[in-house]
Amino acid sequence: MKEKLDNIKAAALREIELASTTAELNNVRVKYLGKSGEISLLMRDMATVAKEDRPAMGKLVNELRNAVEGTLIAKTEQIAELEKQARLKAEAIDITLPSSAQRLGSLHPLTAIRRELIDIFTGMGFTVADGPEIESDLFNFQLLNIPKDHPSRDMQDTFYVNDNIVLRTQTSAVQARIMTNAQPPIRVVSPGKVYRSDDDASHSPIFNQFEGLAVDEHITMGDLQGCLTTFAKKIFSEDTKVRLRPSYFPFTEPSVEVDVTCSMCHGKGCRVCKGTGWVEILGAGIVNPAVLDMCGIDSKKYSGFAFGFGIDRIAMIKYGIPNIKLLYENDVRFLAQFN
Ligand SMILES: [Zn+2]
Repeated sequence: MKEKLDNIKAAALREIELASTTAELNNVRVKYLGKSGEISLLMRDMATVAKEDRPAMGKLVNELRNAVEGTLIAKTEQIAELEKQARLKAEAIDITLPSSAQRLGSLHPLTAIRRELIDIFTGMGFTVADGPEIESDLFNFQLLNIPKDHPSRDMQDTFYVNDNIVLRTQTSAVQARIMTNAQPPIRVVSPGKVYRSDDDASHSPIFNQFEGLAVDEHITMGDLQGCLTTFAKKIFSEDTKVRLRPSYFPFTEPSVEVDVTCSMCHGKGCRVCKGTGWVEILGAGIVNPAVLDMCGIDSKKYSGFAFGFGIDRIAMIKYGIPNIKLLYENDVRFLAQFN
């Protein structure tokens, strides 16, 4: 019997030693200490032991059970610690890995162009003025020499709020406001949104206009041409040429349409300029003396020039954008190209 106990002890301790996982250790526990485990069965075998030998044998079995249990507990703790270390190692976060790059936004092309334009014109001594987008008929039309029933109102398809209030069709309304409130010298540009009921690939019901006005003594068409040539060279490229063609606007007299050499082909002729080498970018002229007088400025002493163009059109020409709608759809795939 004593030999049998020693064999069981040796076998149990060896199996405990060899176990390397909690599951394996559990199998060993069941095999020796479970209900039908080898040590548990020994207790049952006590019945076959001679009565006088039972106390000594019981002590030996208890010692065996204690030895195996103690070793099992120690080994269980050891394996738990090893498994914890392994898990921590597997779940570790590598803080030295580079993070995924943040996507930065970019300026909308219209914002970028407007800022560039403001920079160019403030560099020539202009200040920036703002005005309301819902404007009275007086400032939007009448003070600009466009009385009610004037045929030229047909040139601009107007959104009327009522008979006397419109969504401004031109930022020239700001110029009328300034001239009625200030005396020359005046040098001001006014960027802003304007509205017309017009809708195709090159026209949007809402678009951004940029207007300029200079009123002082002895202002001539030469000043206008110099100012616009400087502007065109800076916004497009140094080799850009400017061409003035006679035109008609009620606000200016004489009036001109202004073309620049195509920035895509540099005047050679391409799809953008329809083979002509020239692209029309704006309307301008000498401020009609009638407008100066209506706004309270002495047209015998002062003269001025004015010009206006679409910021959208400048952006389309500069970046080769085929449809004005792209500027207002806020498609991130389109906008990301201007990063
Ligand atoms: Zn061209």
